[in-house]
Amino acid sequence: MNRASDTIAAIATASGRAGVGIIRISGPNARSISETIAGPLPAPRMASFRRFQRADATLIDEGLLLYFPAPHSFTGEDVVEIQAHGSPVALGETLEALCKAGARLARPGEFSERAFLNGRMDLAQAEAVADLIDASSRAAARAAMRSMQGEFSGCVQAAVESLIQLRVLLEAALDFADEDVPAAAPSAVAARLGGIAEKLSRVQKAAAQGRRLREGLRVAIAGKPNAGKSTLLNRLAGTDAAIVSPQAGTTRDVLREHLVIDGLPLILIDTAGLRDTDDPIEREGVRRAQAEIEVAELLLWIVGDRDESDETQAHPAQPNAAILAQARQSLIVRNKCDLSGNMPGVGVDHQGARVIRISAASGAGCEVLIAAIKQAAGLDENSPQVYSARARHLEALDLALVRVQAAQELAQQNFDAVLIAEELRLAQQALEAITGKFTSEDLLGRIFGSFCLGK
Ligand code: GDP
Repeated sequence: MNRASDTIAAIATASGRAGVGIIRISGPNARSISETIAGPLPAPRMASFRRFQRADATLIDEGLLLYFPAPHSFTGEDVVEIQAHGSPVALGETLEALCKAGARLARPGEFSERAFLNGRMDLAQAEAVADLIDASSRAAARAAMRSMQGEFSGCVQAAVESLIQLRVLLEAALDFADEDVPAAAPSAVAARLGGIAEKLSRVQKAAAQGRRLREGLRVAIAGKPNAGKSTLLNRLAGTDAAIVSPQAGTTRDVLREHLVIDGLPLILIDTAGLRDTDDPIEREGVRRAQAEIEVAELLLWIVGDRDESDETQAHPAQPNAAILAQARQSLIVRNKCDLSGNMPGVGVDHQGARVIRISAASGAGCEVLIAAIKQAAGLDENSPQVYSARARHLEALDLALVRVQAAQELAQQNFDAVLIAEELRLAQQALEAITGKFTSEDLLGRIFGSFCLGK
C-alpha cells in the first residue's frame, strides 16, 4: 500500500448545468473534512440525505452523501461522494468549502492514479477506465469494459507466468549445473517458447484491433482532381450508420472527418488532388496529401469508372502507382458507375485488377466499400476478444515478442541458457510495463495527466 498523506477533492461530473452533480473526496481526512460541511457521516455505503454548508453555517445546497471507508473504495482510501444539484455555482461553492476545510483540488486522473498506487487496479485497467469514458462507439466501449474487467491484463499476466516458469527452469539448471538438476532440453525449451510467442501474437492482434477501435482507422482518400473524392467523403459521412463527430476540422487543403461507421471509428482524410503543378500553393497541398497517404493505414484510390486511361494500372512507373505502393493497404475505387453503366460492387477493371465500383453520388456500391474498409481494418465485430489498447501497449507487446523470438532462435541454434534467460527477463520486463509493475514515474504522470478531472 502506498498511502497518500493529503486528501483530494474534485467535481466528478461534466461541467455545465445538470440534474445532479457529484463531488468526490478521497484521502485520510475525507471523513473529517466532509463532516465539517455535512455533519456526521452516514453508515458506510448507505446513501443519506444531508445539507451542505459554509464555514459560517449558511446553506449551500442539499443532496445525498455516501461514505466508502478504506480499503473498499475506488481509490482504496476513505472516499466520500456528494451527490448534489448539478449547479456549477453551488458545486463550485461546496468544493471551495471542502478545500477550506483541508482538501486539495485533485489533478486530472489523480483518483485513478491513487487507485493504481493502492493496488485497486493495474495500469492497463486504469487506462481502460479513461478509454471507456472516451469511447466513440459501442464496440470501443465494449472493448474498454473488457480491459477494465482485467481480460487484457489477464492475458498479459498469463504470458508473464509462462515466461517466469521457463526462466525458473533455465536458471535452476544453470545454478545447480554440478548437481542432479536435469538440464533443460533444448527442443522442449524451443517448443515452450513457440507456445509463448503464439500466445503473444494473439494478444497483440486483439490489442491492435482495440487500438483501432479507440483511435480510429486512418483512411486517406486520394486520386485525381474531380474523381469524386469529396462526394465520397460526404456520402460516407452522411450514411445512416455514420456519426459525424464535432472533432472534424479542416486544414487548408486536407479535410479530416471523424466518423463511426458500423461501430468502426474512421479518420477519413480527403486529400488534395494529386497532380504535377507549378503553383507553389497547390504543390504544398500535394506534398501534404502525400504525407497523409504515407501514414494512413488504408488508401482509397478514387478513379472515374470511365477513365480507362487511368495510370494507376496502365503505367506502373507513373507516380500514382508509386503512391499505391507506399500505402500499407489500398483499395481501388472506381466512381461514377452510374455514368459508365457498370454494375456497382466488387469487379475487375480492364487491366484485371480488383476494384470496387461505386457511385458516390447515388450511394450505389457504398455498402460493399464499407464492408471492404472493415475487412481491411481486420475488425471482426463478433470477436469477443478485442481489448481496448494503446500505442504503448502495442510497443511493449512488440518488444516482448522480439525478445521471445530471439530466445527461440537461441534455443534452436547453439543453445545458450544464459542468453536465453536474459532474453526472457527482458520480455517479462516489457510485458510488466503494460500492467504497471515496471513503469517510471514520468510515464505514470503522462498517463494519468491525460485523464479527465475527477476521475
Ligand atoms: P474531387 O475533386 O475528387 O473531390 O471531386 P468531387 O467530389 O468534387 O466531384 C467532381 C464532380 O463529379 C462533381 O461535379 C460531382 O458532382 C461529380 N460526381 C462525383 N461523384 C459522382 C458520381 O458517382 N456520379 C456522377 N454522375 N457524378 C459524380
